[in-house]
Amino acid sequence: MRVGFIGLGNMGGPMALNIMRAGHEVTVYDIRREAATPHLDSGAKWADSPREAASHSEIVMTSLPGPRDVEAVALGQSGVAQGANPGSVYVDLSTNSPTVIRRISAMLKEKGVDVLDAPVSGGVAGAKRATLGVFVGGDEAAFRRVQPVLSAIGDKVSYIGPSGSGAIAKLVHNQIAICTNAVIAEAFTMGVKAGVAPDALFKAVRDGAFGQGNFLNMLPRVIFKGSFDRAFFALKLARKDLGLATEVAREFDVPMAVAATVEQDLIAGLVNGLGDKDATAAFTIQEDRAGVKVRSDQ
Ligand code: NAD
Repeated sequence: MRVGFIGLGNMGGPMALNIMRAGHEVTVYDIRREAATPHLDSGAKWADSPREAASHSEIVMTSLPGPRDVEAVALGQSGVAQGANPGSVYVDLSTNSPTVIRRISAMLKEKGVDVLDAPVSGGVAGAKRATLGVFVGGDEAAFRRVQPVLSAIGDKVSYIGPSGSGAIAKLVHNQIAICTNAVIAEAFTMGVKAGVAPDALFKAVRDGAFGQGNFLNMLPRVIFKGSFDRAFFALKLARKDLGLATEVAREFDVPMAVAATVEQDLIAGLVNGLGDKDATAAFTIQEDRAGVKVRSDQ
């Protein structure tokens, strides 16, 4: 297929090369022309603007820093909207705002162009090896049309739902990843300051229930079903363990803001009768605050 690729940075550069390797005809554009050198050396065509890249293509893709850049490239002067052909598909691979991509989608639909939000996960190594996860939102038929090109950049390509769904899925993923890093930092600073070597802590965490992936598996098995009554690990025990951990943190002067907040939630859960339910019932405290239930009957 004829593919326009805009934004040849750490992620976009290797993704565009992989699309070329898969046999597609690629036209590239970046505000830094030098970023296109490996692509032009391998036979890509250069476009002088996003509009020109789009006008030569059946699929035009962007991998740009953030919402403002995507909006400017998609809708701005000499942007994708000015060049895209009716029947073509615009795919944004950036980590972007669902509201921004929905607005772009509505505007391009008037020109007969389908828009997919398709943020990627897996880092620069995944981009180079074509092993990215790709989370796609938008029209499902348009997704099927571009699937061969998406398969050239990732081996875990999934259709998530209507416009904006891919962007939301990516933000859910990154919120978990980024905050988990902060929680791990709290725990390891507490553990090391209290006298245990980092390597020994790492082995313990890896070999324990968390490291074995049990917590992620709880989502479909327990939380989506709302079945908190059978206490595999009672909430009162979780409250006790977190209380012991924050006690150690106080003893060794380690700030643990996230742990302290979660401890308060667990105390409120105990007071509200959740103590003998499974510890995952703490999920319902956040559901009540957010006014939504996270349930699925699949
Ligand atoms: P980057 O800064 O390395 O690349 C962005 C590229 O866009 C640069 O080459 C830049 O010159 C170009 N660019 C900026 N404005 C432009 C414009 N108006 N027109 C044309 N080109 C323009 O960023 P990156 O790390 O490749 O990330 C790209 C996107 O992928 C971001 O949304 C990021 O959040 C997401 N992402 C990054 C990673 C990662 O590990 N780096 C992983 C997953 C997703």
